[in-house]
Amino acid sequence: MGKTSSLLEDLIEKAGGCAVVDGGFATQLEIHGATINDPLWSALCLIKDPDLIKRVHLEYLEAGADILVTSSYQATIPGFLSKGLSIEEGELLLERSVRLAVEARDKFWDVTKRVPGHGYNRALVAASIGSYGAYLADGSEYSGCYGPDVNLDKLKDFHRRRLQVLVRSCPDLLAFETIPNKLEAQACVELLEEENVQIPSWICFSSVDGENAPSGESFKECLDIINKSKKVNAVGINCAPPHFLESLICKFKELTEKPIVVYPNSGEVWDGRAKRWLPSKCFGDDKFELYATKWRDLGAKLIGGCCRTTPSTIRAISKVLKEMS
Ligand SMILES: [Zn+2]
Repeated sequence: MGKTSSLLEDLIEKAGGCAVVDGGFATQLEIHGATINDPLWSALCLIKDPDLIKRVHLEYLEAGADILVTSSYQATIPGFLSKGLSIEEGELLLERSVRLAVEARDKFWDVTKRVPGHGYNRALVAASIGSYGAYLADGSEYSGCYGPDVNLDKLKDFHRRRLQVLVRSCPDLLAFETIPNKLEAQACVELLEEENVQIPSWICFSSVDGENAPSGESFKECLDIINKSKKVNAVGINCAPPHFLESLICKFKELTEKPIVVYPNSGEVWDGRAKRWLPSKCFGDDKFELYATKWRDLGAKLIGGCCRTTPSTIRAISKVLKEMS
């Protein structure tokens, strides 16, 4: 898989065969009182409260995350432009998202590495690249319906500048997240090639039926595209409910040889009309411990959480995975 993959593979190995990705970012910002009800969502904090972003990164490191995902999920140049910022200001904010995570990682590691028997790994920083639907903020990252006007070139144009700026900011990894259809997977794969990106990456899909991509296209179709690329080092699912993952990991195992990454949401359901999360019935942190064990046994190499998971979820996952190794 080439030299770019070794960084990720080394971390997985050091973590005992399965590394821990961090958890919900916006969720934790909200717990600290940040208002993120905005099309820019957690990216709003890049402008208003960068110290809080760093604090949340530190909380996830403390909880045992081996990989920090940056706050750039919904940070896009067009999104910043619509807020009245200039292109230069938008680019600086993207760079800032990587820098804040790197600073948190370095700060945590400087202290931790001196503690005998600490049990932590030096974390990697993954620059988050949300799907086009995440930028639209209309829920299309869960429907995969981008409409007839959106073609491959439009998706590549949308992703290109942000990708360039994030790459220039030197994260350890790139994380494409909640990709809902084959076309956008294709756009990501072609962009990595065209830009000759040397940073390892993963591509994660969302899923709303536990079987296919949100667009209804099969994961076979989607993974066939990704399997052809040497620049994608892991593939998986994020922000789907946890009870989908067992069968999806089994499916992905048959469809690809690339390491599988999963970081589901908490299983709570977003009520779009009332704009609130409906209370979860059964997905507490203890449940995540069981799930993480199962997912690891099925072959997942990277496990974490997405929306509505918190540092305590990640602490539970990290503890159970590290006990096993
Ligand atoms: Zn999510």
